[in-house]
Amino acid sequence: MTKDRRELARRPDTAAIPTAWEYAPAPESREVVRLQDRYGLFIGGQFVEPLSNERYTTIDPAHEEPLAEVAQAGKADVDRAVKAARAAYAESWSRIRPSERAKYLFRIARILQERSREFAVLESMNGGKPIRESRDVDLPLAAAHFFYYAGWADKLEYAFPNRRPRPLGVAGQIIPWNFPLLMLAWKIAPALAAGNTVVLKPAETTPLTALLFCDVVRQAELPPGVVNIITGDGHTGAELVSHPDVNKIAFTGSTEVGKAIQRTLAGTGKRLTLELGGKAANIIFDDAPLDQAVEGIVNGIYFNQGHVCCAGSRLLVEESIYETVISKLKRRMQTLRIGDPLDKNTDVGAINSKQQLEKIGSLVQSGVDEGAEIYQPPCKLPERGYWFAPTVFTNVAQSYRIAQEEIFGPVLSVLTFRTPDEAIEKANNTPYGLSAGVWTEKGSRILAMAQRLRAGVVWANTYNRFDPASPFGGYKESGFGREGGRHGLESYVALDDA
Ligand code: NAP
Ligand code: MG
Repeated sequence: MTKDRRELARRPDTAAIPTAWEYAPAPESREVVRLQDRYGLFIGGQFVEPLSNERYTTIDPAHEEPLAEVAQAGKADVDRAVKAARAAYAESWSRIRPSERAKYLFRIARILQERSREFAVLESMNGGKPIRESRDVDLPLAAAHFFYYAGWADKLEYAFPNRRPRPLGVAGQIIPWNFPLLMLAWKIAPALAAGNTVVLKPAETTPLTALLFCDVVRQAELPPGVVNIITGDGHTGAELVSHPDVNKIAFTGSTEVGKAIQRTLAGTGKRLTLELGGKAANIIFDDAPLDQAVEGIVNGIYFNQGHVCCAGSRLLVEESIYETVISKLKRRMQTLRIGDPLDKNTDVGAINSKQQLEKIGSLVQSGVDEGAEIYQPPCKLPERGYWFAPTVFTNVAQSYRIAQEEIFGPVLSVLTFRTPDEAIEKANNTPYGLSAGVWTEKGSRILAMAQRLRAGVVWANTYNRFDPASPFGGYKESGFGREGGRHGLESYVALDDA
């Protein structure tokens, strides 16, 4: 330790925080959720038994307890769902007036708002995310997406001036486990607004809010077959991708699977959008409001246990403020509360699955082995369930795996820079390009940085902010196509000359 560092360590704002501030448990009740023991597939407006006759158990990752049995859709089930979507497209959805389509979407948005507590609790039970996040982020944003796209349904010709937009037909949609209902909304709302029908496959580990959404679809009296939900693992997804009667595939998930899908679709004429991984740089300049920036760093990487494709997983700090930022960050990390996702005080919930926990563990081990310095605040992790303490690595070289690969967990790697050019070079030194953050008082510097960062979204003096009107998507291996905003409609229409 240098003399400077010793002095810093003695400063009152860097001292360990006494643990006097214990919070009493404040659990959200599970009563509002009524689970069935088993679920079928939602095809043609009703739940049907899987022709595959296969099922699996979905669990609560915070307690490793089973929640329900769900169906594993096979090839014949996928075919049945696509047929239902095709029939609904031909017989109802493509024929009804756009203003009528809008009414259904508004109805879905309102029902989601009315039932938001039920959905939030279920999302936290099945996915492990803190109720504070599912209640305040996932649910309001999911409803907002339906409201937003409802507004576009009868205004498509204004979205694409001088062109005649027409729906594509049947969209196959495959989503991940980090924001199960929100990703469903991102996929289904623009597809329906543009006049398509859908077959959606939720992730294997988080099917329950998608299955509850089927109830909303029925409550909104959507014509049968407009929305079909089929559960299952990657095999089900692969069947959906290769089904000959699907016109468009929308995928959010890993770059590896995204590449495989792109190979399968090459030459088929099916439309494709891919929203894949990320390894975003969160860049802190020496003139940034530091306490605010530290909040942004914490939100950037520990929000949703770091299971966020646009997570600010690489922190780039200007060298002159490095010591101060790191000490403030460590101090802030000591106040994070880890535990029961249904507790309203919880900041960091459970890791989504055993498989993901193992992946995080092995990448963190690689960081230690390669020579980075690890810090985890003292915290007591529950005995059952999948947990990982918030982690920060310093002394990280750009070549280390923890600086290169997407960890998809609560793990931050810290690098430093001396000039804006060096920050840009390091930030762009990644195969990904989904998002980035810039923290500085200077407006001109924000604009200059945003222009040179190869990332689909650049946040300035904030992080992980979403709005349905704002397009989201990547460069390079983070995929192509945009979700949200007017751009999000483009993926679901063919544009003829007017
Ligand atoms: P994944 O395998 O890419 O899963 C995404 C979705 O695709 C899931 O519904 C998945 O089903 C399905 N799928 C899997 N194999 C498929 C195939 N061959 N054809 C069609 N669909 C297929 O991702 P993961 O296994 O859940 O997570 C692995 C890593 O991906 C994570 O560690 C993270 O780095 C990254 N990831 C990124 C995002 C993102 O938002 N960009 C989201 C999730 C994960 P199953 O659920 O059954 O696998
Ligand atoms: Mg997978």
